[in-house]
Amino acid sequence: MRFEVLDMPKIDGPRLIADLKTLRAFGATGTGVVRPTFSEVDMAARRWLAGRMAEAGLEATIDGVGNVIGRSRNAGPAVLLGSHTDTQPRGGWLDGAYGVMAALEVARALPDLAIDVASWADEEGTHWSFLGSSSFCGEDVVGDAGVDAAIAGAGLAGRSKARLEPGRYRGYMEAHIEQGGVLEAEGKRLGVVTHIVGARGFDLTFEGQQNHAGTTPMALRKDAGAAAIRFAHAAQTGLAGVAGPASVWTIGRMAFDPGAPSIIPGRASLYLQVRDTDAGQLRRMEAHIEALIADHDRGGPCRVILAGYDDGMEPTAMDEGLQDHVAAACESHAPGQWRRMPSGAGHDAQILARRLPAAMLFVPSIRGISHDFAEDTADADLALGCQVLATAVASILGR
Ligand SMILES: [Zn+2]
Repeated sequence: MRFEVLDMPKIDGPRLIADLKTLRAFGATGTGVVRPTFSEVDMAARRWLAGRMAEAGLEATIDGVGNVIGRSRNAGPAVLLGSHTDTQPRGGWLDGAYGVMAALEVARALPDLAIDVASWADEEGTHWSFLGSSSFCGEDVVGDAGVDAAIAGAGLAGRSKARLEPGRYRGYMEAHIEQGGVLEAEGKRLGVVTHIVGARGFDLTFEGQQNHAGTTPMALRKDAGAAAIRFAHAAQTGLAGVAGPASVWTIGRMAFDPGAPSIIPGRASLYLQVRDTDAGQLRRMEAHIEALIADHDRGGPCRVILAGYDDGMEPTAMDEGLQDHVAAACESHAPGQWRRMPSGAGHDAQILARRLPAAMLFVPSIRGISHDFAEDTADADLALGCQVLATAVASILGR
């Protein structure tokens, strides 16, 4: 008879929280953090992180784009874990930081397995969105003058760039705070991410005739502000008619020119963004918006011009096999307290997913707040998420 002893890896929750609090001190501002990529505090945080990785027995380097990589000395197959330690201009203390410190804690909890840990440079796009993970996956963005100058300013010029080693990894996994309120509203403690949404952005300009707000009769006006408002209303109601269950859309910016109480706006602008997990659904919403632009332009009296179009983000599915490992780990540590869900925010995992099977695990954000100094998560949930990640990694590597 053969017995298999399954030792469940045990993470050290207090050590994880202590590391997160130490990292928070780099750029701490009130309850939040200001640590934009390649700032002095960001580079100091990267050096501290490389030191913590080395103490954990990993081979730690800061590469030519600022990625901090802790490579396991154990023989593969390996799992790659990571997230980012840069923040928004006024960011929270857990966005990205949680996934990096949880990754390091998992590597410490499973010292016999091959677990590589990464902090990807500039996820938040201070200089170039997803700079580090894109570079690691072989997309060379160096050559952009602004990015090159930022890299040189951080003292990284001339360093070699870490690249994905083909065949080394069974997959990439990223723990992250949810940055929304779905888990909290449903009383769940963990989310297994199914997809990361794709986004399309439409930057519209409305051209009319600037004029006197008192002397110009309504019938003779070419009011660009009114045209933008009509378009915004038509988009809000029209998109509701073609939306799928995961569709969201936002007019995040609208401006009138010159923007004075007694002037009929001669120009107006509006930015409409749509997001969905499904590429087909995204295309249907795009087609609807294109038809709406043509309609409103034809109907007059103002021109409606598509001044800019942003198709930067494709919907990305997480690997189903890895999701099942994460889901099984959720069920064993928190039965019934987890759900599968899409990610409405972009993450490095969508870049890594181009080259590796990828998965993500969410922990709840208190009151659903993120990209704000008030961002927070209960300590118990931070520890639980890390434990689930460790168990999932052990099962992926066959332990
Ligand atoms: Zn993040």
